[in-house]
Amino acid sequence: MAVYETVIGLEIHVELNTKSKIFCSCSTAFGAEPNVNTCPVCIGLPGVLPVLNEEVVHLAVKAGNALGCEINLINKMDRKNYFYPDLPKAYQISQFDLPICTGGFVEVTAQGEKTRVNLTRIHIEEDAGKLIHLEDEAYTLVDYNRGGVPLIEIVTEPDIRSAEEAVAFLKQLRSILVYSGISDCRMEQGSMRADVNISLRKAGTSVLNTKVEIKNMNSIKEVYKAIKKEESRQLQLYSYGEGHKVVQETRRWDQAKGRTLAMRSKEDAHDYRYFPEPDLPPVRIDREWVLQIRSSLPELPVDRKKRMMAAYGLRETDVDILIEEKMIADFFEATVALSREPRESANWIITEVLRVMKNQEKVPLTPEQLSDLILEVKKGTVSRTAAKEVFEALINQEKSTGALIEGMGLNQISSAQTLEAVIEEVIEEFPQALSDYRAGRTQSFGFLMGQCMKATKGKGNPGIVKAILERKLKE
Ligand SMILES: [Zn+2]
Repeated sequence: MAVYETVIGLEIHVELNTKSKIFCSCSTAFGAEPNVNTCPVCIGLPGVLPVLNEEVVHLAVKAGNALGCEINLINKMDRKNYFYPDLPKAYQISQFDLPICTGGFVEVTAQGEKTRVNLTRIHIEEDAGKLIHLEDEAYTLVDYNRGGVPLIEIVTEPDIRSAEEAVAFLKQLRSILVYSGISDCRMEQGSMRADVNISLRKAGTSVLNTKVEIKNMNSIKEVYKAIKKEESRQLQLYSYGEGHKVVQETRRWDQAKGRTLAMRSKEDAHDYRYFPEPDLPPVRIDREWVLQIRSSLPELPVDRKKRMMAAYGLRETDVDILIEEKMIADFFEATVALSREPRESANWIITEVLRVMKNQEKVPLTPEQLSDLILEVKKGTVSRTAAKEVFEALINQEKSTGALIEGMGLNQISSAQTLEAVIEEVIEEFPQALSDYRAGRTQSFGFLMGQCMKATKGKGNPGIVKAILERKLKE
C-alpha cells in the first residue's frame, strides 16, 4: 500500500483586544446580556455608515510585525456576501485581494523537530453574531453582541504535516499574540478559533489533493483529535480506491461523538461575490507608524526563552513550560526576584501551580506567598511534606505564608536542644535497637529515626534529627 502524508493549512480567527467594535462604538465586552452591545451599525440597519476603528489597524499591524509579515501600506475592505441569520447585513466586511499583511512565519518545534510554518496573509474582518440552538425547541436564538467585534484572520500555507505540528503551531501563535497584547486568545470564550484544511497525498509527491475543511474549533486539544480522526477517514477513502473519493466539503467536529460530520459542500471565493466596500475608503498606513509599532513590540516568547535560559540556568523543557503562558512567565520571574531561587520556583510552579490552574484561570497565589514558602523550606522552618500542605492552604487565600505556617502548627523543630532531649528519650525507650546498632546491625538506624520523627509528630527537621541521632549512637 502506498504511504500517504498529511497536508494541513490553518485559518485562525482572533478577536482583537479593543474596547469597541470595528465599525461602531459598541462595547466588545464578553459575557454581557444578549443583544445589549448593539446599535444600528452593527445590526446592519439600512442607511448606516461604518467608520473603521483605528485601534484595529494598529493591532493588525502589530500582529504583522510580531509574525514577520510584510505590511501593505495600502489595503482595502471588501464585502463578502452570504446569507446566514447571524449576519444581519447579509454581508461581512472583510479584506479580499488587498489584505493588511502578507507573508510571515512562525517557528515551531514538534516531536523534537524544528520547522517553519509560513503564513499566506493576515486580514481584518468583523465577527458575526452568535446563534444559540436550544435543545428540544423549534427555534434558534441569536445574540448580536459579537457582531462587529474586530477579528484578524491568519491564514497559513499548507506547510503543516501532522496533528502534533498543528498543535505546536497554535500554541506558539497563541503565545506570540498574547505576549504582544493583540488578543487574549481565550479559545473557550471563542476569541481564538481555528479552521483546519486537511488533505492527504502520496508521500514524496507535491500535488495538493482535494481538501476538507473542519470549521470553528475552539480548543487545541480538539483540533488534535479532529485531525487524527480526519486523517484516518481520508486514508480509508484513498485505500479503497477510485470509487471512494474525498469530496471537497466543510465538516464539523462533533466533540461528543469524536468524529467529523459533513456540513455543506465547500464554497469557492467566487461564490461570495466579493466587491470593494463602497462605504469605506482604502486604508492608507504611514511607514513611520509601522516602524514605530515594530520598535515598541514587547519581548516576544522566543526572546524571553533565550533570556530566561541564560539568566536562570534552567532546562529548556522547563523554560518552554514556563513561557507558554505569559501570566505564568511573569509569575515565575516575580517569584525569583523575591526568593532568588530559580530552580525551586520553577519546580513549584510546574508541579503545583499549574496543577491547580487546570481548574482555574488565575494564578492561585501571589509571588510573595510562594517565595516565602520556598524560603521557609530552605531555612528549615517547615519540612518539604508540610510545605505541600501549606501550599494547599494558600490557594486563593490572602494570608501570608508565615501566618499560615504558624496557624497550622507545622513549624519544623530545628532547635538542636529540643531535638536532643526527644532523641535521648527514644534511645532510652529502645535499648535493644541501640545495642543492635552498636553490634553492627545498622538497619536499626532506620527504626530509631522513624521513632524520633514520630516522637516529634513529624515536625522534627529530618536533617538535624539524623545528625544528632548518628552522634548519640556513637557516643
Ligand atoms: Zn454597534
